Amino acid sequence: MLKTKSHINFDNSYSRLPGQFYTRQNPVPVSAPSLIRINRALAEKLDIDPIWLESEEGISTVTGNKIPIGGDPIATVYAGHQFGGWSPQLGDGRAILLGEVLDKQNQRYDFQLKGSGPTPYSRGGDGRAALGPILREYIVSEAMAAFRIPTTRILAAAATGDHVYRQNILPGAILVRIAKSHIRIGTFEFFSSRNDQESLRLLADHVIQRHYPEAAEHENPVLAMLDAVIENQAHLIASWQQIGFIHGVMNTDNILLSGETIDYGPCAFMDEYHPETVFSSIDRNGRYAYGNQPTIGRWNLIQLAQVLIPLLDKDPKKARELAQESINKYMDLLIKSYQNSMTLKLGICNAMPDDIKLIKDLLDIMAEDKMDYTLTFRYLSDLAGDDAKNGVGDLVTLSEKFSFWLGRWKKRLVLDTQTPIQRQAGMYAQNPVFIPRNHLIEEAIQAAENGNLNLFHQLVDILTNPFEYKVELKKYALAPRPEQVVKETFCGT
Ligand code: AMP
Ligand code: MG
Repeated sequence: MLKTKSHINFDNSYSRLPGQFYTRQNPVPVSAPSLIRINRALAEKLDIDPIWLESEEGISTVTGNKIPIGGDPIATVYAGHQFGGWSPQLGDGRAILLGEVLDKQNQRYDFQLKGSGPTPYSRGGDGRAALGPILREYIVSEAMAAFRIPTTRILAAAATGDHVYRQNILPGAILVRIAKSHIRIGTFEFFSSRNDQESLRLLADHVIQRHYPEAAEHENPVLAMLDAVIENQAHLIASWQQIGFIHGVMNTDNILLSGETIDYGPCAFMDEYHPETVFSSIDRNGRYAYGNQPTIGRWNLIQLAQVLIPLLDKDPKKARELAQESINKYMDLLIKSYQNSMTLKLGICNAMPDDIKLIKDLLDIMAEDKMDYTLTFRYLSDLAGDDAKNGVGDLVTLSEKFSFWLGRWKKRLVLDTQTPIQRQAGMYAQNPVFIPRNHLIEEAIQAAENGNLNLFHQLVDILTNPFEYKVELKKYALAPRPEQVVKETFCGT
């Protein structure tokens, strides 16, 4: 017998803000909800009983057919720069914030349904999501979490039993996204563009209280918040670069103040390393190419700094100087963070100035010889110890230039203080063998559209533990054969 008490520990701070931040909106029920997968570990972290989540009532909650006790459903409003162009009003067009959950440590998380029906911000869209993009987001965001990269996560995914109409007729699905919050640079831009200083101030106070409580102690709390956001963004983008992740749609409405990765629409992981790699079918000019991500991150932060200027100082000139000083710190932070990860990827713990050249030369060789980014670093990890029984050696192709570089790397390792065993353990923990490869995601989506979820489940299971190689899972570590290469990914609409 199901209890009638609340199964989710809601405490909804955003919906206590004034009405200009959102519209109250219930999810629109779906016809035949059925569970695809729940994330047990995340449910337990959030103090939500996984058995309840799998029950009929849990599935009704996940798909928006039932509003749980304590929920207060809203669609939030924001604006944003999309591919550099200004969109004065966006907002949750196919998402509903059911409420905020407090986990066992009292950390607050948004509990958001995505694909839950139209809202006042749908701009003619149907408010729904197709199965494919829902599965893609599940696979990739959970892999990012396993890579220890800050990210929104998926608590559950369910099929709706309804069709969605895109270029084809597709099965519909919904997911529950868990995020520290969904407050974006675009949320600040929305109020700034309407010259609503009071809301801007309220929003900044909310973000400080929720994400950067230390900033409240600072003599200029908004400046301290901006600095913290910049630092988080620098680390985040550095972590994308070192893992080979291409976000694909770094619009300001997809950049969270919390520093988590969000919006796994046209994203992808690189197979062959090349800095100009672009996957997104809507990114015609390569604005969001892999190698551009650090500078685009800066561009986005400039938009944030700009709208915060009125809150930074009464004197506009002084405020602009403060904003500029903060922005100026970004690229150094990012480069330092990136170089730090890259030296760890090479098994070096006492970085030296020449290491930068060693890294750069390796990347140049990888680009020239079309080497697989992930497997190359994994191969180096195998070489780093005395023993590599479970190596990926036969999965990589070596070139002459690469072999020469290997000699330089080995000489450099002699100067490092770690033992080979320590080094290899460190490298295995830094260099995943499994990444969410595009061709596998596409294969999983196609199978799912034909009613078979096995590959989807298998990928999620494997990617929960992406640093541990098992020979029987070789198929999931392999780079795509030429005919398997996916050249474009599509936006999640
Ligand atoms: P995205 O590309 O997912 O970042 O979405 C950009 C904007 O379009 C956001 O305001 C979304 O809420 C909205 N949007 C995307 N897909 C849909 C849809 N199917 N129906 C309504 N709004 C949508
Ligand atoms: Mg978005």
